[in-house]
Amino acid sequence: MNALPIVVQKFGGSSLADPERLADCAERAVEASRNHRLVVVVSAMGDTTNWLMGLAGEVSSNPDRRALDMLLATGEQVSASLMAIALQAQGIRAIPLAGADAGIRTDDLHGRARIRSIESTRLHDLMDDGAVPVVAGFQGASEIGDVTTIGRGGSDTSAVAIAASLNVGATGGRCDIFTDVDGVYTADPRIVKEARRLDRISVDEMLELASVGAGVLQERAVVFARRYNVPLRVLHSRKDGRGTEILREAPEMERNPVVGCALRMELGRIGVRGLPKGAAVQAAMFKALSASGVMVDDIVQTESNESLDVAFTVGHADLAEARDAVRGQIESMGLNDLDLEVEIGLAKISVVGTGMRSHVGIAGVMFDSLDQAGIPIMNITTSEIRISCLIPQDRSEEGLQTLHKAFGLEQGVESVDG
Ligand code: ADP
Ligand code: ASP
Ligand code: MG
Repeated sequence: MNALPIVVQKFGGSSLADPERLADCAERAVEASRNHRLVVVVSAMGDTTNWLMGLAGEVSSNPDRRALDMLLATGEQVSASLMAIALQAQGIRAIPLAGADAGIRTDDLHGRARIRSIESTRLHDLMDDGAVPVVAGFQGASEIGDVTTIGRGGSDTSAVAIAASLNVGATGGRCDIFTDVDGVYTADPRIVKEARRLDRISVDEMLELASVGAGVLQERAVVFARRYNVPLRVLHSRKDGRGTEILREAPEMERNPVVGCALRMELGRIGVRGLPKGAAVQAAMFKALSASGVMVDDIVQTESNESLDVAFTVGHADLAEARDAVRGQIESMGLNDLDLEVEIGLAKISVVGTGMRSHVGIAGVMFDSLDQAGIPIMNITTSEIRISCLIPQDRSEEGLQTLHKAFGLEQGVESVDG
């Protein structure tokens, strides 16, 4: 048995975009392998996944999801093979593995499968043998052995789930996500130039940010990190630096009401007016949506004397399916003359911070600054540590810049307090 700490390193697509970058990532892996047991998880190179999706789209306007998974999974397999070859060239015994070979079992919801279990014996055996498994991220196998993919950005989740199954924390190890930014920022640095890298962020805040559009980590990766207590960091693949540590909780974070803001783009809203009172129709409607595999974002219900209005947001990609499911359901219930409204081109803008639990006035600052900028708020939703507003997408980047400034996020943690 080998008592070295286990580290899982994940390299994202832009960090592997060409052989030169891939070699830089391999260098990081070689370094880590000197004093750790190491598992490497890779995404598809550069824009490969989009390119493969485009190819399928040229062959059919509605490709079968199972076939699409088989196609998309090749992207990560190319990376795993090349990364293994690069490591072998440095004298490392690297073994490329497809998701299924690494023991990743999922349900059979092609395109958005959920990881059910990871049978990590093979990974352990390889590491005990002094080898470095190089796992294709973003994919697994269903119970009957079909290739599945786990949703866009899913290699983060593959990496953290593998780290959880190997219990890296108990070995003194961690999961490192290497990407094209040097950590988690107060906002997407591509949109807000003044955004600031955070040395640390609590896992609750990271989860909220990821769930409302901060694409630096896939939401489910953070869910795994929280549930299984996986020490997690986000780092730049080409620049040295401390990156951002995702912590269970840091006491001083209570002083920092807003830690970051994020945007989710390309949302649509479906509204149904004049539903009969009682929960039966909504229940049937949302069951129909779930049966169609539509991911519903926020739901709002308003009640008048006679009837109910229900509206919900979904991603543009799911909008047509959602509309058809709702229409089909209300028609099948004989409610033919209901008013069904579909809007597109919306975005959700959010501010997040555990300090909201103990600070008042955050919502006021948020609504006021959007109002001052003339950005209409079409809906508001909150959690204990998040406030989100639905706004027109064509004002969303300006909205993010406005909120970043309004909360003094460019100035560091103490600025809003005092
Ligand atoms: P990878 O290919 O490595 O998975 P992604 O493109 O998925 O990389 O994620 C990195 C990108 O996430 C960054 O280039 C950045 O534009 C974006 N991003 C969005 N929100 C944030 C944030 N709060 N902090 C850092 N990056 C962010
Ligand atoms: N290659 C997949 C995607 O582009 C998975 C990932 O990059 O994490 O979504
Ligand atoms: Mg990503």
